[in-house]
Amino acid sequence: MIKKAILLIVLIISLIISVNLAVRSIYTSNIEEPSVESSANPSAITEVEKDPQSPKPVNSNNTDDTEVAQHIPVLMYHHLLKNDENIFKNNSSILSVESFQEHMELLYKEGYTTLTLKQLENFLLKKEQFPKKSVVITFDDGYKSNYKYAYQILKQYGFVASIFMITDKISDTTVPFDPTQLQYLSWEEMELSKDVFEFVGHSHNLHHLDNNGKSYLISKPKEEITEDLRKNLEIIHNPYFAYPYGHYNSETIEILQNLGYKMAFTINEGSVKPGDHLFELKRHSIFPYTTIQNFLEKLK
Ligand SMILES: [Zn+2]
Repeated sequence: MIKKAILLIVLIISLIISVNLAVRSIYTSNIEEPSVESSANPSAITEVEKDPQSPKPVNSNNTDDTEVAQHIPVLMYHHLLKNDENIFKNNSSILSVESFQEHMELLYKEGYTTLTLKQLENFLLKKEQFPKKSVVITFDDGYKSNYKYAYQILKQYGFVASIFMITDKISDTTVPFDPTQLQYLSWEEMELSKDVFEFVGHSHNLHHLDNNGKSYLISKPKEEITEDLRKNLEIIHNPYFAYPYGHYNSETIEILQNLGYKMAFTINEGSVKPGDHLFELKRHSIFPYTTIQNFLEKLK
């Protein structure tokens, strides 16, 4: 009799504890939801990104063992500098050339295929299938370092990549590389590297934040945004886009669609799959503190 009573008490206590834990976990998951509209980065490169350490949704396709890709990771890089020439040590958008080389070598050894954005569009529209180990490599902003360093490394492995260009920043003349300056690609460098890179849109002259930390792409008048994005597409002739700072709203999407753009990329963390909204595509941010283990996780 006493034994039964003790058992009953233990049962009641454990029930109370588990209900309490469940309620707590609901609360904390709401509180710790990472914000897309994070604050502006005051350093040389002003892209605002999310913390790659934030929890990723569990992908239900992880267990499939078919030979074709069910989902594809789109990697996002920015500026590259060699370790010994990087004077912007705290800038999370600058990756070392050494790390980039390591990532590409890993992709090559693992047997990855790199896709163009047209191929990715076909994959998302279920028009074409690709090997399970497929990846899309992207760079934002159009830095000269992409030509100086990434071009040769990508070429060495037979890879292709896409650069989201701020077209107003494209340089008319090719000047010597200076790692202490934030330099952009020249027209000549774009022409010389088009066997590896395709060039796509990242706004013409709206890659700025207003006083409230909002991208001009959502805070400027609709007419000005439309004109800017039209110019961006006219110069680039390639209907793919990445939102500066990852900021967008339904009006931005509508403008892009009306102008004839076909896909747009955010900086929200994750891979892409058929059925995803073509103007809200996720990417995987690569930071200086992204470990090889993190990198491999992103590819899964
Ligand atoms: Zn950018």
